[in-house]
Amino acid sequence: MTEGYIKFNCNWTQKEFPFQEEIHGELEASRTKLRNLGLIGMYPDGIGFGNISVKTADSKSFIITGSATGQFEKLDQSHYALVTGYDFEKNSISCSGLTKASAESLTHAAVYESLPEVGAVVHVHCLWLWEKLLNDYPTTSAEIEYGTPEMAYAVGKIASEITEKIIVMGGHREGILAFGSNLTEATDEIINIYNRYKND
Ligand SMILES: [Zn+2]
Repeated sequence: MTEGYIKFNCNWTQKEFPFQEEIHGELEASRTKLRNLGLIGMYPDGIGFGNISVKTADSKSFIITGSATGQFEKLDQSHYALVTGYDFEKNSISCSGLTKASAESLTHAAVYESLPEVGAVVHVHCLWLWEKLLNDYPTTSAEIEYGTPEMAYAVGKIASEITEKIIVMGGHREGILAFGSNLTEATDEIINIYNRYKND
């Protein structure tokens, strides 16, 4: 049997979700740092890139920047989504919020699933950094494309095997993931590596 491409499926409940102002503030602080370095933003063609997420207090769900929000300098709560469930095999997520969660939510979910101690995940795009880190840091296979169950499985597997908290997405040009026990840690992972390599 040949496995065809499984389309990403988002079961979206369009309504507000409980969102503490303190968590929103932490997300915005991290996002602003990353956006100022161009690691989250929008391409000239209008497509946004980069997303960050944080696990909720009950650890069963996570809050993530919404789909197509890269162009905005600041996000209010309506630009975030709460991911309440996911199924890697079916390439589907369930979320609520006034904005949909992106297909990349599954990659975040894969890290949380494999490492229960992780509290935050950051996904950025940066071509020069990606090229420098590719295959020197833990890297997913070049054949695995973004938004596929295979990417989620590969990220989950690598996350459980490494000591670094950085994964380069080999088949997702420019894509880099970092994680940590909280937002500050995950964000610093990327910023530290960015600073280390920028003058190389
Ligand atoms: Zn990406």
